Amino acid sequence: MNVLLPQPIEAEATQRLSEAGHTVIVADDPKPGTVRPLLKDAQAVILRTGITMTRELIEAADDLLVISRTGGGFDNVDVEAATDNNVIVTSNLGVNTISVCEHVLAMMLSLAKKLPVLDRAVRQNNYSIRYQNLSCDINGKTLGLLGFGRIGYQVAQACKTVFNMDILACDPYLPDEIKQQYGDLVVFVDKQRLCNDSDVISVHVPLTEQTHHALSTDEFKLMKPEAIVINTSRGPVIDEAALTMALQNGSIGGAGLDVQTKEPPDPDNPLLQLDNVILTPHSAALTSECVIRMATDAADRTLEVLSGKVPLNVANPEVLKSSRWQHLV
Ligand code: NAD
Repeated sequence: MNVLLPQPIEAEATQRLSEAGHTVIVADDPKPGTVRPLLKDAQAVILRTGITMTRELIEAADDLLVISRTGGGFDNVDVEAATDNNVIVTSNLGVNTISVCEHVLAMMLSLAKKLPVLDRAVRQNNYSIRYQNLSCDINGKTLGLLGFGRIGYQVAQACKTVFNMDILACDPYLPDEIKQQYGDLVVFVDKQRLCNDSDVISVHVPLTEQTHHALSTDEFKLMKPEAIVINTSRGPVIDEAALTMALQNGSIGGAGLDVQTKEPPDPDNPLLQLDNVILTPHSAALTSECVIRMATDAADRTLEVLSGKVPLNVANPEVLKSSRWQHLV
């Protein structure tokens, strides 16, 4: 069968598809105009983030069986259109959890230890900066997690185990029985207490209407002047103008941002000028190991469907009730 890649994926993954006897077709670029004609004869699409599988594209395919996302989310797939056309959508939940967790820890430690500032000082022959005692310890401090899902939990575990941190979490959507399960690790609080009491606040919620600007002026006002804010979720979860002001006027201590409101940020974005900010280009999950994991997992989900099995993590389980797939369940 034909597996279409709108963007290339790692060789380890394409090899699995070829060894199973399928033909891998890589588009020259992920523009809809390039991908549309290739979709006609495709039975599977392995999808990174460079193109959105719209209804129009899904309907351009004559015999599409599966859209398999390399990452955990499927915000670039019209899932309803896929369901209407009896196409299974699968993704790889949790595949990048550990890599994002490590990125959070790296940002937290870099900001607490003032690594970028000290590194620049040494290069500028300012060795005596060491006497300013700029850095602080993390051990025994309080970590506040906005969102206690896969990544939030992993960060909590690591910070408790390695740094003996007290862990607070705000996650109103988590059922009580799940909260009770993690009672030894974390105290569940409201957002106000999270902001008041935390030395480090790390954001791990999806971007929704409720989480848009979840941290804004009111929340920054509640925080400790030395508080570190880390965002590896989605840029608009934090009100960036309010954050910039809080960083500029010292009402919080620093920020680590893997995601920004506009990606890439404009060259005149004031965050780029601030010493107490670390910025990375939405790269928390893009480690050399994780990209291979994401690609091979997406290939495995595809192979499951093409060999007549229900894949892990079906985003549109109702599609399995259609006559096309009924025999699988
Ligand atoms: P998850 O679905 O396992 O957990 C999200 C948690 O947020 C859930 O427990 C949910 O109940 C909670 N939540 C939802 N709305 C909330 C609200 N208003 N207030 C408080 N909690 C709320 O997701 P995850 O795997 O932990 O990932 C978290 C986010 O990280 C993703 O949504 C994604 O946007 C982002 N992410 C970024 C990267 C990156 O490369 N930077 C990689 C993976 C994931």
